[in-house]
Amino acid sequence: MSYQALYRVWRPQTFADVIGQTAITQTLQNALTTGQTSHAYLFCGPRGTGKTSVAKILAKALNCRHLENGEPDNTCDLCVAINNGSLTDVIEIDAASNNGVDEIRDIRDKAKYAPTEARVKVYIIDEVHMLSTGAFNALLKTLEEPPAHVVFILATTEPQKIPATIISRTQRFDFRRITADDIVGRLQHILDDKGITAEPKALMVIAKAAEGGMRDALSILDQVLSFGQNHVTVANALDVTGGVAAAQLGAYLTQIGAHDPAAALTTIEQLLASGKDAGRLIEDLIEYLRDLLVFQQAPSLVNDTESALRDDQFEPLAKTFSASQLYRMIGVLNETQSQLRLTNHPTLYLEVATVRLGEQPAPVAAQPAASAAPAESGAVSALQAQVEALQQTVAQLSQGQPVAAPAAKPKPLTKKATHPHINKQQLYPILGAATKADLTAIKDIWPDLLNMLSVTKRAMMRISEPVAASASGVIVSFAYDILVERAMKDTALMTELQSGLARLRGDKLTIVLVQQDEWPKVRKTYLAEMGAPQTPKPAEPTESPVVKTITDMFGDEENITIKND
Ligand SMILES: [Zn+2]
Repeated sequence: MSYQALYRVWRPQTFADVIGQTAITQTLQNALTTGQTSHAYLFCGPRGTGKTSVAKILAKALNCRHLENGEPDNTCDLCVAINNGSLTDVIEIDAASNNGVDEIRDIRDKAKYAPTEARVKVYIIDEVHMLSTGAFNALLKTLEEPPAHVVFILATTEPQKIPATIISRTQRFDFRRITADDIVGRLQHILDDKGITAEPKALMVIAKAAEGGMRDALSILDQVLSFGQNHVTVANALDVTGGVAAAQLGAYLTQIGAHDPAAALTTIEQLLASGKDAGRLIEDLIEYLRDLLVFQQAPSLVNDTESALRDDQFEPLAKTFSASQLYRMIGVLNETQSQLRLTNHPTLYLEVATVRLGEQPAPVAAQPAASAAPAESGAVSALQAQVEALQQTVAQLSQGQPVAAPAAKPKPLTKKATHPHINKQQLYPILGAATKADLTAIKDIWPDLLNMLSVTKRAMMRISEPVAASASGVIVSFAYDILVERAMKDTALMTELQSGLARLRGDKLTIVLVQQDEWPKVRKTYLAEMGAPQTPKPAEPTESPVVKTITDMFGDEENITIKND
């Protein structure tokens, strides 16, 4: 016998088998027992939540010769025929591949005829949002005057794409994502049946990766089982889902806690080299940090068996970081997550995040708060306010709500950094003498220059790009506003860059950093100021800088556009 996918073998055959949609199955069973079924149903919900399965069970229940409590018996000739797909009166259509008007008109014509064997003709239209406007109109005509012996079941993952006129003709059911616990229960049941054992955390890893879809969970389990052992391990589950082992996350965070970003960068490199996805890695890290935060406040909320992330390093890490540090780290990772959506080079941002996470806490943040010697009553009440805010957030976290920014914690650093200082005195002389040849020369040696830097400084500079250059200086754009200011103040970094450039080019260049978003404005302002002599500018002699064309200075348009990566 050929191998059958788990989701086929374990497709629910009765309403009672359906996991996590009790409200829906109960309502349908009641309608069936009281004979109050509708002529058109709309099943909405994420993929793998049971829409098609429930549609098939409903088709059987509508026809079953021995309906009991609204459940089909799965043994009468009609149930059997529906189960093996041989009953011509139950018609399944995938709208994704049949979105034409003709197909729906065909349905309309055939729907008129009474069922051949069954009592009720059932049309199950999957992915119904894919129908064309014409097809929807044809469908609407049928729904407006449904033949007595016909029931339509429309299923979709995107109800917002369905015309209101159609929705108003249907009875709508919204399928919910299945909880991780429910999925774990089902997986365990299936494994018990197959006589296969599993590490409990392995099933949680699968359930979390499936994001509420039972079909995805079963597909992942299928892949894990294909490793051939009779035991499901966390390692195998992580392999299939692309998740990162708790041990590796713990090691990374331990290095961060020890302010050893160079070691943390090596860990990240190894994880990425082994095929882990940067986005997934950040998600896993955020989850780990949230668990640490919750554990600090209420250890019982982080259940040892439920959290796939708990291992030996977990508790020491919960002691390593203060709550405000954890908040800061989650903030950095959230920021990185949104950066990742805009870039083709996620690795670079992950590296920058690592450098930022591993840095010593800023002096402002390190002040008395965390120390054990509370002095004045003012400090105490500030602490109390902070604790209250934390407790509130923990309450939210334990209810699965997303973390908001810490309310009681002002962030002076970020505020200041949103408008980095633009230094015209440094920028304008370089702009005034900038040439395309100089820029090309700098771009050529840029990778070599970065290679000369220490590993953490290189990680930061990899999201920079030279955008203009003259014989005496270079302007470098930086993707992160927070980092521009920090890099400019980082004298060690600036010295390393300058000496590197001097070694590569043989002459000393001024390096000016500018934030990526600010650069087009800087350039525009410069050109406007230089090209508009009627604007009185007493400080500068009007005739001196010959205004060059943009192309002279920066090369072609493509060279001056700042790439998002
Ligand atoms: Zn039956």
